[in-house]
Amino acid sequence: MRMYGEDASTEEDIFQLLVEKEGKKKKTQRDEILKSLGVERFFDEGTITINQKTCQGLECELCIKTCPSKALYWKDGEIGILEDLCVYCGACVLCCIVDDCIRITRKRSNAATESFSKPSDVILVCRKINAKKRHQVVESLSSDAEAYLKRYG
Ligand code: SF4
Ligand code: SF4
Repeated sequence: MRMYGEDASTEEDIFQLLVEKEGKKKKTQRDEILKSLGVERFFDEGTITINQKTCQGLECELCIKTCPSKALYWKDGEIGILEDLCVYCGACVLCCIVDDCIRITRKRSNAATESFSKPSDVILVCRKINAKKRHQVVESLSSDAEAYLKRYG
C-alpha cells in the first residue's frame, strides 16, 4: 500500500530490499546446513534434473543414499530435489543405475560449463580434473619442459 507522499519508486526499493534480505537469509541457512554436513560448495551455479519416467524409484533410491548434502528425497512416488542444497558434485549420477536419468550442468569459476548424465561422464570429468592438477604441479615444479627433463628425465 502506498502512503501519502510516497512515490512508486520508493515502494519498489523497499520491495527489492526485502527480496535481497530474504535471499541472504536463505543463503545463510543453506550454508549453515551444508557446513553441518561437512559439504563444501565448489560450484555456485548449476542445474539438476531427474527423468522420472526412467527412474527406478523405490526399487533403487541409490541417489538418495549417496547424496552428501541430503538434497534428494522421496516425495509422492518420485525422487524430489531440494535444489538449494545441491552442490552439483555428481555423486548421484555416478551411482545411478539408469544412464541419462539424472542430468547435471554446472559452471566453474572460470565460467566453463560441463554437463553429464552417465557414470562414465563423471569418471571422464574427474580424469580431466586430475590431469589438469598434475599438469599444474609439473608447471609449478619446472617452468619449461627442458628444465623438467633435466630434473626428472
Ligand atoms: S549432485 Fe547429486 S549427489 Fe551431489 S549434491 Fe546434488 S543431488 Fe546430491
Ligand atoms: S539412482 Fe537413478 S534410478 Fe535410482 S532412484 Fe536415483 S534417479 Fe532413480
